[in-house]
Amino acid sequence: MENYKKIIDGKKYSEELLKQLIPLSSKFFKNFNRKPCLAVVLVGDNTASGIYVKNKVNIAEKNGIESIKIILSSEVSEQDLLNEIFKLNENQDIDGILVQLPLPKHISEKKIIHNIDPMKDVDGFHPINFGKLFMGDPNFIPCTPMGCFYMLKNELKDLNGKNAVIIGRSNIVGKPMASLLLSSNCSVTVTHSKTKNLQEHCKKADVLISAVGIPEMIDETYIKKDAIVIDVGINRLQLLNSKTNTSITKLVGDINFEKVVNIVKKITPVPGGVGPMTIACLMHNTIKAAYKNKKQNFVNILGDYF
Ligand code: NDP
Repeated sequence: MENYKKIIDGKKYSEELLKQLIPLSSKFFKNFNRKPCLAVVLVGDNTASGIYVKNKVNIAEKNGIESIKIILSSEVSEQDLLNEIFKLNENQDIDGILVQLPLPKHISEKKIIHNIDPMKDVDGFHPINFGKLFMGDPNFIPCTPMGCFYMLKNELKDLNGKNAVIIGRSNIVGKPMASLLLSSNCSVTVTHSKTKNLQEHCKKADVLISAVGIPEMIDETYIKKDAIVIDVGINRLQLLNSKTNTSITKLVGDINFEKVVNIVKKITPVPGGVGPMTIACLMHNTIKAAYKNKKQNFVNILGDYF
Protein backbone atom coordinates (compact mmCIF):
# COMPACT_ATOMS: atom_id res chain seq x y z
CA MET A 1 0.00 0.00 0.00
CA GLU A 2 1.39 3.42 -0.86
CA ASN A 3 2.38 5.20 2.29
CA TYR A 4 0.00 8.14 1.85
CA LYS A 5 -2.94 5.72 2.06
CA LYS A 6 -1.79 4.82 5.57
CA ILE A 7 -2.22 8.34 6.87
CA ILE A 8 -5.05 9.11 9.26
CA ASP A 9 -5.80 12.62 8.11
CA GLY A 10 -6.62 14.58 11.27
CA LYS A 11 -7.10 17.77 9.31
CA LYS A 12 -9.80 16.18 7.17
CA TYR A 13 -11.48 14.62 10.20
CA SER A 14 -11.48 18.00 11.94
CA GLU A 15 -12.90 19.81 8.90
CA GLU A 16 -15.73 17.29 8.70
CA LEU A 17 -16.50 17.63 12.39
CA LEU A 18 -16.46 21.44 12.22
CA LYS A 19 -18.80 21.32 9.22
CA GLN A 20 -21.25 19.23 11.26
CA LEU A 21 -21.03 21.68 14.16
CA ILE A 22 -21.97 24.80 12.18
CA PRO A 23 -25.73 24.04 12.04
CA LEU A 24 -25.66 23.58 15.83
CA SER A 25 -24.01 26.94 16.47
CA SER A 26 -26.38 28.60 13.95
CA LYS A 27 -29.41 27.07 15.65
CA PHE A 28 -28.12 28.29 19.00
CA PHE A 29 -27.74 31.81 17.60
CA LYS A 30 -31.26 31.71 16.18
CA ASN A 31 -32.74 30.56 19.48
CA PHE A 32 -30.81 32.77 21.89
CA ASN A 33 -29.67 35.71 19.80
CA ARG A 34 -26.05 35.17 20.68
CA LYS A 35 -23.30 32.76 19.67
CA PRO A 36 -21.95 30.00 21.92
CA CYS A 37 -19.12 31.68 23.80
CA LEU A 38 -15.70 30.36 24.83
CA ALA A 39 -13.41 32.25 27.23
CA VAL A 40 -9.73 31.42 26.80
CA VAL A 41 -7.37 32.44 29.58
CA LEU A 42 -3.67 32.79 28.76
CA VAL A 43 -1.17 33.51 31.52
CA GLY A 44 2.35 34.63 30.59
CA ASP A 45 4.19 34.62 27.29
CA ASN A 46 4.98 30.97 26.59
CA THR A 47 5.35 30.92 22.78
CA ALA A 48 3.73 27.52 22.22
CA SER A 49 0.77 28.41 24.47
CA GLY A 50 0.34 31.69 22.56
CA ILE A 51 0.18 29.79 19.26
CA TYR A 52 -2.35 27.27 20.64
CA VAL A 53 -4.59 30.06 21.97
CA LYS A 54 -4.43 31.96 18.67
CA ASN A 55 -5.41 28.82 16.74
CA LYS A 56 -8.29 28.06 19.09
CA VAL A 57 -9.64 31.62 18.90
CA ASN A 58 -9.35 31.71 15.08
CA ILE A 59 -11.11 28.40 14.61
CA ALA A 60 -13.85 29.38 17.07
CA GLU A 61 -14.52 32.58 15.17
CA LYS A 62 -14.65 30.79 11.82
CA ASN A 63 -17.22 28.34 13.17
CA GLY A 64 -19.87 30.53 14.69
CA ILE A 65 -18.41 30.59 18.21
CA GLU A 66 -17.59 33.81 19.99
CA SER A 67 -14.28 33.78 21.82
CA ILE A 68 -13.09 36.03 24.59
CA LYS A 69 -9.35 36.11 25.16
CA ILE A 70 -8.14 37.01 28.64
CA ILE A 71 -4.41 37.62 28.72
CA LEU A 72 -2.72 37.95 32.09
CA SER A 73 0.87 38.69 32.98
CA SER A 74 3.13 35.82 34.07
CA GLU A 75 3.33 37.61 37.43
CA VAL A 76 -0.41 37.52 38.09
CA SER A 77 -1.13 36.12 41.57
CA GLU A 78 -3.00 32.87 42.03
CA GLN A 79 -5.79 34.77 43.78
CA ASP A 80 -6.19 37.25 40.91
CA LEU A 81 -6.38 34.40 38.42
CA LEU A 82 -8.96 32.68 40.63
CA ASN A 83 -10.97 35.89 40.73
CA GLU A 84 -11.01 35.93 36.91
CA ILE A 85 -12.27 32.35 36.92
CA PHE A 86 -15.02 33.21 39.44
CA LYS A 87 -16.17 36.09 37.21
CA LEU A 88 -16.28 33.79 34.17
CA ASN A 89 -18.15 31.12 36.15
CA GLU A 90 -20.82 33.65 37.07
CA ASN A 91 -21.18 35.26 33.66
CA GLN A 92 -24.25 33.68 32.05
CA ASP A 93 -23.06 34.67 28.58
CA ILE A 94 -19.91 32.58 28.87
CA ASP A 95 -20.52 28.91 28.07
CA GLY A 96 -17.03 27.43 28.14
CA ILE A 97 -13.83 28.27 30.01
CA LEU A 98 -10.38 27.10 28.96
CA VAL A 99 -7.25 27.94 30.92
CA GLN A 100 -4.25 27.31 28.70
CA LEU A 101 -1.68 25.11 30.46
CA PRO A 102 1.03 25.15 31.64
CA LEU A 103 0.64 27.93 34.21
CA PRO A 104 3.60 29.70 35.83
CA LYS A 105 5.15 27.72 38.70
CA HIS A 106 3.74 29.95 41.48
CA ILE A 107 0.17 29.07 40.48
CA SER A 108 -1.37 25.70 41.36
CA GLU A 109 -2.90 24.26 38.17
CA LYS A 110 -4.88 21.90 40.34
CA LYS A 111 -6.44 24.76 42.31
CA ILE A 112 -7.36 26.66 39.14
CA ILE A 113 -8.87 23.63 37.40
CA HIS A 114 -10.84 22.65 40.51
CA ASN A 115 -12.43 26.11 40.59
CA ILE A 116 -13.74 26.14 37.03
CA ASP A 117 -17.49 25.50 36.97
CA PRO A 118 -17.70 21.82 35.86
CA MET A 119 -20.54 22.77 33.49
CA LYS A 120 -18.19 25.21 31.71
CA ASP A 121 -15.14 22.93 31.86
CA VAL A 122 -14.83 22.31 28.12
CA ASP A 123 -11.35 20.81 28.62
CA GLY A 124 -12.86 18.10 30.82
CA PHE A 125 -10.14 18.41 33.46
CA HIS A 126 -12.34 19.15 36.51
CA PRO A 127 -12.47 16.16 38.93
CA ILE A 128 -16.24 15.85 38.44
CA ASN A 129 -15.85 15.54 34.68
CA PHE A 130 -12.81 13.31 35.05
CA GLY A 131 -14.69 11.06 37.49
CA LYS A 132 -17.78 10.91 35.29
CA LEU A 133 -15.62 9.84 32.34
CA PHE A 134 -14.07 7.02 34.35
CA MET A 135 -17.51 5.91 35.53
CA GLY A 136 -18.67 5.57 31.93
CA ASP A 137 -20.98 8.58 32.05
CA PRO A 138 -18.96 11.38 30.42
CA ASN A 139 -19.99 15.03 30.53
CA PHE A 140 -17.03 16.82 28.89
CA ILE A 141 -14.26 14.55 27.58
CA PRO A 142 -10.71 16.04 27.42
CA CYS A 143 -10.27 17.22 23.83
CA THR A 144 -7.04 15.46 22.80
CA PRO A 145 -8.01 11.91 23.82
CA MET A 146 -11.52 12.59 22.54
CA GLY A 147 -10.16 13.41 19.07
CA CYS A 148 -7.88 10.34 19.10
CA PHE A 149 -10.75 8.12 20.18
CA TYR A 150 -13.07 9.46 17.52
CA MET A 151 -10.51 8.84 14.78
CA LEU A 152 -9.77 5.34 16.12
CA LYS A 153 -13.45 4.43 16.21
CA ASN A 154 -13.84 5.60 12.64
CA GLU A 155 -10.73 3.87 11.37
CA LEU A 156 -11.27 0.56 13.16
CA LYS A 157 -15.07 0.48 13.50
CA ASP A 158 -14.79 -2.31 16.10
CA LEU A 159 -12.33 -1.89 18.94
CA ASN A 160 -13.59 -4.95 20.84
CA GLY A 161 -10.76 -7.01 22.32
CA LYS A 162 -7.95 -4.99 20.72
CA ASN A 163 -4.72 -4.66 22.66
CA ALA A 164 -4.26 -0.94 23.19
CA VAL A 165 -1.02 0.43 24.61
CA ILE A 166 -0.71 4.04 25.72
CA ILE A 167 2.68 5.61 26.33
CA GLY A 168 2.22 8.39 28.89
CA ARG A 169 -0.07 8.65 31.92
CA SER A 170 -0.86 12.36 32.14
CA ASN A 171 -4.29 13.59 33.23
CA ILE A 172 -4.56 15.44 29.92
CA VAL A 173 -3.92 12.52 27.57
CA GLY A 174 -2.85 9.13 28.90
CA LYS A 175 -5.38 8.51 31.69
CA PRO A 176 -8.54 9.73 29.90
CA MET A 177 -7.40 7.87 26.78
CA ALA A 178 -7.25 4.66 28.83
CA SER A 179 -10.80 5.22 30.07
CA LEU A 180 -12.11 5.81 26.55
CA LEU A 181 -10.46 2.70 25.16
CA LEU A 182 -11.76 0.62 28.06
CA SER A 183 -15.26 1.87 27.29
CA SER A 184 -14.84 0.32 23.83
CA ASN A 185 -13.71 -3.02 25.26
CA CYS A 186 -10.01 -2.73 24.49
CA SER A 187 -7.50 -4.43 26.78
CA VAL A 188 -5.54 -1.39 27.86
CA THR A 189 -1.94 -1.08 29.04
CA VAL A 190 -0.76 2.33 30.26
CA THR A 191 3.01 2.77 30.25
CA HIS A 192 5.22 5.57 31.58
CA SER A 193 8.80 6.53 32.36
CA LYS A 194 9.20 3.78 34.97
CA THR A 195 7.80 1.02 32.74
CA LYS A 196 10.22 -1.85 32.22
CA ASN A 197 10.69 -3.27 28.73
CA LEU A 198 8.58 -0.62 27.02
CA GLN A 199 9.30 -2.10 23.61
CA GLU A 200 7.85 -5.48 24.61
CA HIS A 201 4.57 -3.84 25.68
CA CYS A 202 4.38 -1.75 22.52
CA LYS A 203 5.14 -4.72 20.27
CA LYS A 204 1.88 -6.30 21.45
CA ALA A 205 -0.23 -3.26 20.58
CA ASP A 206 -2.92 -3.48 17.91
CA VAL A 207 -3.46 0.18 18.78
CA LEU A 208 -0.52 2.27 20.00
CA ILE A 209 -0.99 5.79 21.34
CA SER A 210 2.08 7.79 22.17
CA ALA A 211 1.93 10.89 24.38
CA VAL A 212 5.45 11.20 25.70
CA GLY A 213 6.91 14.43 24.35
CA ILE A 214 10.26 12.97 23.24
CA PRO A 215 10.99 13.65 19.55
CA GLU A 216 10.83 10.52 17.38
CA MET A 217 11.52 8.20 20.31
CA ILE A 218 9.40 5.37 18.90
CA ASP A 219 10.92 3.52 15.95
CA GLU A 220 10.26 0.24 14.15
CA THR A 221 11.49 -1.81 17.13
CA TYR A 222 8.34 -0.81 19.08
CA ILE A 223 5.73 -1.56 16.43
CA LYS A 224 3.62 -4.65 15.79
CA LYS A 225 2.91 -5.34 12.11
CA ASP A 226 -0.33 -3.67 10.98
CA ALA A 227 -0.74 -1.66 14.18
CA ILE A 228 -2.81 1.51 14.20
CA VAL A 229 -0.60 4.26 15.60
CA ILE A 230 -1.73 7.59 17.05
CA ASP A 231 1.05 10.10 17.62
CA VAL A 232 -0.03 12.73 20.16
CA GLY A 233 3.44 14.19 20.69
CA ILE A 234 4.18 17.71 19.52
CA ASN A 235 7.88 18.42 19.75
CA ARG A 236 9.54 21.55 18.43
CA LEU A 237 13.04 21.02 17.03
CA GLN A 238 15.28 24.01 16.36
CA LEU A 239 17.25 23.27 13.21
CA LEU A 240 19.82 25.30 11.34
CA ASN A 241 19.04 26.24 7.75
CA SER A 242 22.54 25.89 6.30
CA LYS A 243 21.72 28.02 3.24
CA THR A 244 20.50 31.06 5.14
CA ASN A 245 22.31 30.28 8.41
CA THR A 246 19.10 30.94 10.31
CA SER A 247 17.29 28.78 12.81
CA ILE A 248 14.04 27.11 11.76
CA THR A 249 11.47 25.28 13.87
CA LYS A 250 10.35 21.83 12.81
CA LEU A 251 7.41 20.03 14.44
CA VAL A 252 7.84 16.31 14.96
CA GLY A 253 5.91 13.71 16.90
CA ASP A 254 6.99 10.98 19.31
CA ILE A 255 6.99 8.49 16.46
CA ASN A 256 9.72 8.23 13.86
CA PHE A 257 7.29 8.28 10.95
CA GLU A 258 9.75 7.23 8.23
CA LYS A 259 10.96 4.23 10.22
CA VAL A 260 7.52 2.86 11.11
CA VAL A 261 5.37 3.71 8.12
CA ASN A 262 6.13 0.47 6.28
CA ILE A 263 5.07 -1.64 9.26
CA VAL A 264 1.90 0.10 10.45
CA LYS A 265 -1.58 -0.24 9.00
CA LYS A 266 -2.50 3.39 9.73
CA ILE A 267 -0.77 6.31 11.43
CA THR A 268 -1.47 9.95 12.31
CA PRO A 269 1.14 12.42 11.03
CA VAL A 270 2.64 15.36 12.94
CA PRO A 271 1.60 18.00 12.09
CA GLY A 272 -1.88 17.34 10.68
CA GLY A 273 -2.95 14.46 12.91
CA VAL A 274 -4.11 14.79 16.49
CA GLY A 275 -3.58 18.58 16.73
CA PRO A 276 -6.44 19.73 14.44
CA MET A 277 -8.84 17.20 15.96
CA THR A 278 -8.06 18.49 19.46
CA ILE A 279 -9.26 21.96 18.44
CA ALA A 280 -12.35 20.62 16.65
CA CYS A 281 -13.28 18.67 19.81
CA LEU A 282 -12.89 21.85 21.84
CA MET A 283 -15.44 23.50 19.54
CA HIS A 284 -17.73 20.51 19.98
CA ASN A 285 -17.47 20.76 23.77
CA THR A 286 -18.09 24.53 23.70
CA ILE A 287 -21.29 24.15 21.70
CA LYS A 288 -22.35 21.29 23.98
CA ALA A 289 -21.68 23.54 27.01
CA ALA A 290 -23.76 26.33 25.44
CA TYR A 291 -26.75 24.03 24.94
CA LYS A 292 -26.39 22.73 28.49
CA ASN A 293 -26.10 26.29 29.81
CA LYS A 294 -29.47 27.03 28.23
CA LYS A 295 -30.89 23.70 29.47
CA GLN A 296 -31.40 22.59 25.87
CA ASN A 297 -31.04 19.09 24.54
CA PHE A 298 -27.69 18.67 22.74
CA VAL A 299 -28.03 16.24 19.86
CA ASN A 300 -24.73 14.47 19.91
CA ILE A 301 -23.50 14.29 16.34
CA LEU A 302 -20.53 12.13 17.28
CA GLY A 303 -22.53 9.38 18.92
CA ASP A 304 -23.81 8.61 22.37
CA TYR A 305 -20.52 8.41 24.21
CA PHE A 306 -19.42 11.98 23.35
P1 NDP B 1 3.41 14.95 30.22
O1 NDP B 1 4.81 15.45 30.28
O2 NDP B 1 2.44 15.39 31.24
O3 NDP B 1 3.43 13.35 30.23
C1 NDP B 1 4.40 12.63 29.54
C2 NDP B 1 4.24 11.18 29.89
O4 NDP B 1 5.24 10.45 29.19
C3 NDP B 1 4.43 10.87 31.37
O5 NDP B 1 3.46 9.97 31.83
C4 NDP B 1 5.82 10.26 31.44
O6 NDP B 1 5.98 9.29 32.46
C5 NDP B 1 5.90 9.58 30.10
N1 NDP B 1 7.28 9.37 29.68
C6 NDP B 1 8.30 10.28 29.68
N2 NDP B 1 9.42 9.72 29.24
C7 NDP B 1 9.13 8.43 28.95
C8 NDP B 1 9.89 7.33 28.48
N3 NDP B 1 11.19 7.44 28.19
N4 NDP B 1 9.26 6.15 28.30
C9 NDP B 1 7.94 6.02 28.58
N5 NDP B 1 7.18 7.02 29.04
C10 NDP B 1 7.77 8.21 29.24
O7 NDP B 1 2.92 15.29 28.77
P2 NDP B 1 1.43 15.43 28.12
O8 NDP B 1 0.66 14.19 28.34
O9 NDP B 1 0.84 16.73 28.52
O10 NDP B 1 1.84 15.56 26.59
C11 NDP B 1 2.56 14.54 25.93
C12 NDP B 1 2.90 15.00 24.53
O11 NDP B 1 1.69 15.24 23.83
C13 NDP B 1 3.68 16.31 24.43
O12 NDP B 1 4.53 16.26 23.32
C14 NDP B 1 2.61 17.35 24.20
O13 NDP B 1 3.10 18.49 23.52
C15 NDP B 1 1.67 16.57 23.33
N6 NDP B 1 0.29 17.06 23.39
C16 NDP B 1 -0.32 17.24 22.19
C17 NDP B 1 -1.61 17.68 22.13
C18 NDP B 1 -2.26 17.83 20.81
O14 NDP B 1 -3.25 18.52 20.69
N7 NDP B 1 -1.75 17.17 19.76
C19 NDP B 1 -2.35 18.03 23.35
C20 NDP B 1 -1.66 17.69 24.58
C21 NDP B 1 -0.37 17.24 24.56
P3 NDP B 1 5.90 9.67 34.05
O15 NDP B 1 4.45 9.84 34.34
O16 NDP B 1 6.50 8.50 34.71
O17 NDP B 1 6.68 10.94 34.21
